[in-house]
Amino acid sequence: MSELTPAQQLRYSAQLLLPEMDESQQLRLLYSKVLIIGLGGLGSVVASYLAGAGVGHLLLADDDRVSLSNLPRQLLYSSAGVGQLKVDAATARLQAQNPELVITPLAARLSLSDLLALLPEVNLVLDCTDNASSRLAINQACFLRQVPLISGAASGWRGQLLALQPWLGQGCYQCLYPDWQDSPSCLQSGILGPLVGMVACQQALLALKHLLQIGDVSFGRLYCFDGLHGQSSQLKLQQEPACPICAAGDS
Ligand SMILES: [Zn+2]
Repeated sequence: MSELTPAQQLRYSAQLLLPEMDESQQLRLLYSKVLIIGLGGLGSVVASYLAGAGVGHLLLADDDRVSLSNLPRQLLYSSAGVGQLKVDAATARLQAQNPELVITPLAARLSLSDLLALLPEVNLVLDCTDNASSRLAINQACFLRQVPLISGAASGWRGQLLALQPWLGQGCYQCLYPDWQDSPSCLQSGILGPLVGMVACQQALLALKHLLQIGDVSFGRLYCFDGLHGQSSQLKLQQEPACPICAAGDS
């Protein structure tokens, strides 16, 4: 594929009007391969926007099944899909949304070795998981394979977003949370759909800007949002000299 078909020009016409976009930029998206890990409130919204924008190959990883309590915020799923594997329900829905994409469902919780095997073939990883052990494994694999990582999290009224290229000395997730334990999940601390949707939309926006190499992706900065009071803050991540992940081997 060296140029857009008339149908693609029509499908993507609104985003092609942006001054930063042109046919070669759209082709860049169509040739991109992105791994989305976790298909809950974050991942289902992120996947939908990336599929809509024409990211050509999406790998979707989640070992969970759709439950009734997911439906207020996990917009890819329907009541009829309760009990289905999330990767299967999501693949069917996204394929219907944009049939020209390649979507690879991975019904598994990816281990560090799974990630290390997968990452050399992907351009970007989106961490949409909800537990510390997955986040730290994803962080380590992205550091070792030098694949950019955009991580989102939401719990209670708080959301946060972090884009990382930890091999560039910007610090990593482990630097931010050196003694991290699992924090309460959505079901323990509560969550309102639009809060997690806001984080997911920002995650998708950063992903598209990174793939297109436009604008500011804020690598190495932690963005925090308080949805109850409408306040946000940013801080620059610092590499921990003793970090066992990203500082190892530094002289
Ligand atoms: Zn680190």
